[in-house]
Amino acid sequence: MKVFSCVCGNSLFFENSVCLGCGAAVGWCPLCEQISALIPDGDEGFRCGHEPCEAILVKCDNYAVHDVCNRCVEKTSDVANLCDCCLHNDTVPDLSVAGNHEKWSRLEAAKRRLIYVLDLLGLPHLTPSKDAPLPLAFDFKADVIPTNEFWRTMGNTERVYTGHANGKITINIREADPVEREAMRVDLGEAHRTLVGHFRHEIGHYYWDLLVRGQCEADCVAVFGDHHYPSYADALERYYQEGAPDDWPQSFVSAYATMHPWEDFAETFATWLDMIGVLDSAHHLGFVNVPDVHTADTDMLIEKYRGIGIAMNEMNRTMGLLDFLPKPIAPPVVEKLRFVHQLVLPFGARGSGAA
Ligand SMILES: [Zn+2]
Ligand SMILES: [Zn+2]
Ligand SMILES: [Zn+2]
Ligand SMILES: [Zn+2]
Repeated sequence: MKVFSCVCGNSLFFENSVCLGCGAAVGWCPLCEQISALIPDGDEGFRCGHEPCEAILVKCDNYAVHDVCNRCVEKTSDVANLCDCCLHNDTVPDLSVAGNHEKWSRLEAAKRRLIYVLDLLGLPHLTPSKDAPLPLAFDFKADVIPTNEFWRTMGNTERVYTGHANGKITINIREADPVEREAMRVDLGEAHRTLVGHFRHEIGHYYWDLLVRGQCEADCVAVFGDHHYPSYADALERYYQEGAPDDWPQSFVSAYATMHPWEDFAETFATWLDMIGVLDSAHHLGFVNVPDVHTADTDMLIEKYRGIGIAMNEMNRTMGLLDFLPKPIAPPVVEKLRFVHQLVLPFGARGSGAA
């Protein structure tokens, strides 16, 4: 991620919607791909403050109306203005429930981080249209818990499972509560549990369906194992009864990756996106020089990531935070990351730097 600049010279960051230097509203301009000052330009429109762009913009409706987005769209006569990230939303949290606005805001911020890296890699994330083979959509939903009204229970229980099916990514909005998420992390013995991590894992399932299914399944089986046997349902049951084998760190990125080859692929894909995001930020901050991912050698990218991980682990330990890169990247994991790298190579980069 780059650090951007306001017209007043102050630094702007990816999540900003206001400049702390001059108080200007700021937002993501889809034309110059910058967080820019939004200069009022009549009729609720804005001019992009990043010279020489000067695009005429309006705020995404989820920015203007709900303040959960900081992206803009080009001003057109369309009534609905949703940005390239918000266009994928099918279900958003019920804003009449206390705390849901904050949860939605955190979910959108994590989703924008996801989409930023997908765009860097040039990976398609398709919006619904008659030609889209697998449109990407998001449901942000809460568990439905029956309430006791008078003497009888009202309503049905509905548990929301975070997951992916046919292009639809569902996230249980409990994950956007940091206290609940940390409790789940400790309970499950995970090194990290983050919102952006959930998005990067679930998008891994999306890309398996879009890029692997019926196309290079045999190559994927050679690296990740046979996804037909055992069946996903059998594998899930076994995992919840027996857990992961003790030696999982020698071949997998996480304990959960041992559950089934599809989960191994999604966990590896998430690790790959973590790595690309970190290398992109490190490149723009001047920590390392990272060439275009599409021409870079997999081992070299992993080596640079490992170096940053070692340094960041010490930084985090200095601050009393969780390890940044919790464990070494084992050789079989390198081969899995190499498969993911090969899979994304055909897609052209849109950005610069690490991707
Ligand atoms: Zn400013
Ligand atoms: Zn612009
Ligand atoms: Zn938006
Ligand atoms: Zn999964």
